[in-house]
Amino acid sequence: MDEHEVLTTLKILIIGESGVGKSSLLLRFTDDTFDPEQAATIGVDFKVKTLQVDGNKAKLAIWDTAGQERFRTLTPSYYRGAQGVILVYDVTSKASFNKLEQWLNELETFSTKHDLIKMLVGNKIDNERREVSKEEGLKFARKHHMLFIEASAKTKEGVQCAFEELVEKIIQTPGLWET
Ligand code: GDP
Ligand code: MG
Repeated sequence: MDEHEVLTTLKILIIGESGVGKSSLLLRFTDDTFDPEQAATIGVDFKVKTLQVDGNKAKLAIWDTAGQERFRTLTPSYYRGAQGVILVYDVTSKASFNKLEQWLNELETFSTKHDLIKMLVGNKIDNERREVSKEEGLKFARKHHMLFIEASAKTKEGVQCAFEELVEKIIQTPGLWET
């Protein structure tokens, strides 16, 4: 296979409480910008980006929520067929961290690929009003067999890595992305 051939399109979800910075992380990753007045996304939408990982080209369709996560009304079609998920909390909000378990339960209920790869992202590390330590994040991630990274959509730190490591792991997992 030509090493630059696009493998396939991967479906990646971004989930987590409202306000944790899901849309900001996506915007930082796809457009390398940050909008401090990031308005609630209108309608469930996704952005497409091609990523080069380990000599493989993967086309990502990254699904963002449209604020329905506030009422926990994401539909099964949002989850269907996803190979990877980015679960986000805000390191300055213990409440957002305490909701992670509920998000994993919902994911478990609706996802159709039960070996999908999960990445936990502690966002907003540029903000000094931290309520969740890195150790707490790491511990949760280990317990639930997730990859883990701390990030800031504002300063870019960790953002590219979060997506790259997730995609790398998906590509390394046989049977997950091949059709
Ligand atoms: P969503 O509801 O999860 O999609 O969150 P948004 O992306 O809409 O972000 C919610 C708020 O947090 C907005 O005011 C963003 O500007 C802010 N925000 C997002 N990411 C960061 C970050 O890394 N650092 C800081 N300081 N603020 C952020
Ligand atoms: Mg949003």
